[in-house]
Amino acid sequence: MQTIPVMIPWLGEEEAAAAAEAVRSGWVAQGPRVAEFERAFAEHLGVPHAVAVSSCTTALHLAMVGAGVGPGDEVVVPSLSFIATANAVTYVGGTPVFADVDAATGNLTPETVAPLLTERTRAVVVVDQGGVPVDLDAIRALVEPRGITVVEDAACAAGSTYRGRPAGATAEIAAYSFHPRKLLTTGEGGMVTCQDGELAARLRRLREHGMSVSAADRHASAGGGASLVETYDEIGFNHRMTDIQAAVGLVQLGKLPAMVARRRELAARYRELLGDLASGLVAEPEHGTGNFQSCWLLLPEGAPERTEVLAGLAQRGVSARRGIMAAHLELPYKGSARVPLPATELLTERSLVLPLYHSLTEEQQDRVVRALRESLG
Ligand SMILES: *Cc1c(COP(=O)(O)O)cnc(C)c1O
Repeated sequence: MQTIPVMIPWLGEEEAAAAAEAVRSGWVAQGPRVAEFERAFAEHLGVPHAVAVSSCTTALHLAMVGAGVGPGDEVVVPSLSFIATANAVTYVGGTPVFADVDAATGNLTPETVAPLLTERTRAVVVVDQGGVPVDLDAIRALVEPRGITVVEDAACAAGSTYRGRPAGATAEIAAYSFHPRKLLTTGEGGMVTCQDGELAARLRRLREHGMSVSAADRHASAGGGASLVETYDEIGFNHRMTDIQAAVGLVQLGKLPAMVARRRELAARYRELLGDLASGLVAEPEHGTGNFQSCWLLLPEGAPERTEVLAGLAQRGVSARRGIMAAHLELPYKGSARVPLPATELLTERSLVLPLYHSLTEEQQDRVVRALRESLG
């Protein structure tokens, strides 16, 4: 009996050929394919600017610099998120301030953010957790009158929608991940999108050591760019994506609608098959549609410990995962929560992520549900 994994990226010959073509071209670092991927991703979202980077973690780092966060500043973030959300704040010397989430969607709400706003709050990072779109407008209405920037961590949300548009498209700054645990993958990779042209130009420089002329532009210009001497006007980073990754990303972007459709179909089928257990499944909010990047299930009251349930599933050839982590329970942030986070702690301790991927068959899905029922006893 073959084990059913929690996630398999949907990659094929087309991606392999695109990567090989990039290698054969001789240009493997950030170059024309990255520029093309940025244009295609911006067009897909309907945003004016997209800047490709090496991961969503580096995208969030740039977003923090772009939002002007520095030492002494506080940034409200959900604890219920991959730890990179909080770490990006720490990288720039800011303090992450952990807010609780809505237990049905796993996302921040104005009610959970409001009590944490202080004179020092510089930004709020909202997360589309597991691909569930956050109610961005509601949070913006709360904090923007106070001069606070909202950054959207849309790491999981390529393919989700918010009020009829792609998730993240209306944010001032949004960050996406192309890690294989998400839908669209480039191996490692990320994207920052924004509305403002000057900010986009600065982010482009910052991802490349703060250079005023990018290496690709210099190389492409007449005479090998001997006349283009770059300057370094602020301290930047090396957060670049490679052309090999971008080549894969271009193929994957074309497959994104099919990926989302299949995942939504399988998620709806889980809802049916789970029957009485389905009330613990991640909820879809009225303001948008999810891509089911993480199809999580809150275990019912009276169910065994989650470790036991996961072990029971593993015995039956099903590889599920613990639910989303909570940063305030990990060593670097332990004891730093200023308010109780009951929904966060409930979800992180009592939820698990069900296998869901493009090639999951209905038979396999039936097996998962059967194994789950047996493991719950
Ligand atoms: C995956 C993830 C990240 C980090 O993305 P990488 O591309 O792996 O750096 C950040 N935030 C959230 C919410 C994530 O799920």
